[in-house]
Amino acid sequence: MRAMDIIAAEHRNMRLVSDALAALGARFATGTADGTALHTVELIAEYFETYSDRFHHKHESDVLFPLMRARSDRGAEMLDQLDRNHRDSHRELARLRFLADHPNRLETGNLKALAEHIRAFRDGFETHLRIEEEQCFPLAREVLTSDDWKMVEVAFAATSDPLDHENPVEAVALLKARITQLLPSPLGLGGTLTHAPATSRGWARPVEPTLAVEAVTSGYGRNDVLHGVSLRIMPGQLVALVGANGAGKTTLLRCISGVQPVSGGSISFRGAPIARMTSADRVRAGLCQVPEGRHVFAPMTIEDNLRLGAYTRPAGEIDRSLEEVYRLFPVLQERRHQPAGVLSGGQQQMVALGRALMGNPKLLLLDEPSMGLAPLIVAEIFRIVRMLRDSGVTILLVEQNARAALSIADHAYVMETGRITLEGPGADLLRDDDVRKAYLGL
Ligand code: ATP
Repeated sequence: MRAMDIIAAEHRNMRLVSDALAALGARFATGTADGTALHTVELIAEYFETYSDRFHHKHESDVLFPLMRARSDRGAEMLDQLDRNHRDSHRELARLRFLADHPNRLETGNLKALAEHIRAFRDGFETHLRIEEEQCFPLAREVLTSDDWKMVEVAFAATSDPLDHENPVEAVALLKARITQLLPSPLGLGGTLTHAPATSRGWARPVEPTLAVEAVTSGYGRNDVLHGVSLRIMPGQLVALVGANGAGKTTLLRCISGVQPVSGGSISFRGAPIARMTSADRVRAGLCQVPEGRHVFAPMTIEDNLRLGAYTRPAGEIDRSLEEVYRLFPVLQERRHQPAGVLSGGQQQMVALGRALMGNPKLLLLDEPSMGLAPLIVAEIFRIVRMLRDSGVTILLVEQNARAALSIADHAYVMETGRITLEGPGADLLRDDDVRKAYLGL
């Protein structure tokens, strides 16, 4: 009975995430939390909303339960109860988000309220699953015909649910991968972003890296600069590449964007090799670079600079992207008719970022965005980079400012004289003794 296998696998997936939520809740109960833990709670709420509400509950309430009601009067009350739970879950999740994103989110009182809400949410969730597994599904097995099961199976196998995403299944798998990655290791879901979760259906398809650089070599004339560099960026990740002056970081970025020839190895973008693609085709495919030194066109207006970034896009989409960039950088909207040359360094960096975003990037390549900027402005730029990541943009951030880059990166690579010498989660590298000595001046 395939439909039941799918449902059982979905329950297993939801239980894993619910267990992780409960473990976070136990920490909050003691009044301890940090921003990442609270952000993880928000992502878990989003996971339940997208996965449970829009896939799982919908298929049950719209297809499975009505078929059961049509076949038998038995279980009507139980089905009413399960339907009610489905309808209420949205409100419960909204409360979870509210507490995790509250202005006083880190205060003990709020954390205790959050812990309490998580406990109640989880109790309700466990009871709901138990009623389904112990009462509802056995009854369904008894009363549904084989044609009914076919309909249930079709509903559960459908991937065209009304999620605002090209591929809803992948979107949810990514969300789960992001949660896995953010969870402190003892609470992990038994995987990392580079290893796609491998259970039924929702996670069955491996998540393909957005960028895979394999053993790339390159240089200038007879001077070899890159000696077999490999790195990966998964969708939605913010990956940092740090290293001293002259290590080869910019050369690698130039290989990725196609302005520097590769003499060995391979580079794949969203699953396809890009060796034969011109730079312009790479931009069209969604590889957008913000160059070192920003390169804004000083005499042109800010708005024209931004529009330049959209030269590969259909005209109808440009105004919408422009609005999004202005929402992100209100100061650019205020000054949109002024020449870009009058802006401060930080604002010019915003123009350069905005211009790349106008190309609707699938991967944003940032080369030294902090270069030459005052510390306060650097903090603002990094806040924006992090915000872009949180909004789903996949980013490769090349930086000499290792501390700032590692503190916002999901994953990071250290490059020394053309070789990757270390890699790991940004926060781990920030604590690594060798990295601290070599790059953080400690
Ligand atoms: P930085 O942070 O200073 O930009 P980087 O890590 O990005 O450093 P690259 O700019 O990639 O390093 O430089 C790597 C090596 O390649 C350096 O030894 C540099 O001198 C050399 N190099 C860079 N560009 C060229 C070029 N156009 N012609 C010849 N050699 C070059």
